[in-house]
Amino acid sequence: TGRLRPRMALRSSGISVTPILADLQKNCATPLPVLRHVADAMAADMRAGLAVEGGSDLKMILSYVNSLPTGNEKGLFYALDLGGTNFRVLRVQLGGKEERVIDTEFEQVSIPEELMFGTSEELFDFIASRLARFVEKEGGRFCLPHGRKREIGFTFSFPVKQTSIDSGILIKWTKGFAVSGTAGKDVVACLNEAMERQELNMRVSALVNDTVGTLAGARYWDDDAMVAVILGTGTNACYVERMDAIPKLPDQTLNSRRTIINTEWGAFSNGLPLTEFDRDMDAASINPGEQIFEKTISGMYLGEIVRRILYKMAKADDLFGDAIPEKFSKPFILRTPDLCAMQQDSSDDLEAVGLILNNTIGVASNLNARKVVLEVCDTIVKRGGRLAGAGIVGILQKMEEDSKGVVFGKRTVVAMDGGLYEHYPQYRSYLQDAVTELLGSEISKNVIIEHSKDGSGIGAALLAASNSKYGH
Ligand code: BGC
Ligand code: MG
Repeated sequence: TGRLRPRMALRSSGISVTPILADLQKNCATPLPVLRHVADAMAADMRAGLAVEGGSDLKMILSYVNSLPTGNEKGLFYALDLGGTNFRVLRVQLGGKEERVIDTEFEQVSIPEELMFGTSEELFDFIASRLARFVEKEGGRFCLPHGRKREIGFTFSFPVKQTSIDSGILIKWTKGFAVSGTAGKDVVACLNEAMERQELNMRVSALVNDTVGTLAGARYWDDDAMVAVILGTGTNACYVERMDAIPKLPDQTLNSRRTIINTEWGAFSNGLPLTEFDRDMDAASINPGEQIFEKTISGMYLGEIVRRILYKMAKADDLFGDAIPEKFSKPFILRTPDLCAMQQDSSDDLEAVGLILNNTIGVASNLNARKVVLEVCDTIVKRGGRLAGAGIVGILQKMEEDSKGVVFGKRTVVAMDGGLYEHYPQYRSYLQDAVTELLGSEISKNVIIEHSKDGSGIGAALLAASNSKYGH
């Protein structure tokens, strides 16, 4: 007896583990060897992507940002941020080394859902019109020298093949955007045309990915910032690279020793512990076969993975009795913030969990079902957080291999932003656990993961300043 234990009692929760749950936990497990493999594969894919164009899943895009903010930036600058569910405009008055950020003002609008499926013109007209409104409302506190155009740092958080600091071609949309007519075009030209239609006379001085904006924003305050990671609707990372470590660079006559590389790590796919639920979600997505790392670890997808698992449990195990409401089958009806809210419920009867299940997927649940749901959430969130941590270690490892001691031998800051990281405490601590396990406690003391809230806005404005057409 005790040799075959098909329904093992989970010590923590006292629920019985069905084969579906046992399989899930087995397939999603991220013990140290799995994490190590992912970190190594990330480092190897980075190298392959730096060696030749198209050399790996990771695009390793040149940002054309060859110097990060110093603190000396001065003047009035704007930032535009288009990336996920929200769109933001910001103005900031920079005062140089002593005064730093004198004043700042921003506005945030959520992107109307239909614009995510419309035409390129419709999307950029919307952006330009919001920007025009924002500029109109400028108070006397902000000051633009006479005869100058307003300059913008444009944070555009999708894979863009940069052609210079102020131009770049959209490779593809991600994060559920399916706007027609933008892929293959210069997004700065798209914005300029829309601004012309609004008779808005501004110029884009820097086009940056949100990771690059975040790194710039973090570096403004902290010289040790070397890596930036976004964990929000989507995910990505950028880091400081040596020019001589980029074999694919066309022109080896370099006027700078370092640059920022946008890894586009969301496309990573090597050695991930995936399940049938991940594969089914991918197959049903608008970009099948793409952004696999992103689909495993980022905020847009965690809720949907959990929904698919619970749906199967409902059908196979009668997890919620025999009723399966219509809306339960609707993709993305369960969102990552719902998982997060459920995981904060520590009451005996898990009433909040029951309420959320009822409000989202429309099911009634007993205590056992609620506990199973929490186990499922934890399994998927733990896998996501730990894999994100392994990805970060992969980047640090690559940097360290190239210049011994530069990363692990001293304080190194990884600037983080994104709603998933910011609002999901369990995800955050799983991520930190994985980093500590991989690096060991000594080295991981030197690696500081720091939340850089909305750093990408100020960061983009700072990069507009350092790339100003009017010099300094
Ligand atoms: C995009 C990246 C972006 C990330 C975070 C991904 O889907 O491909 O460019 O940095 O989301 O916003
Ligand atoms: Mg963003």
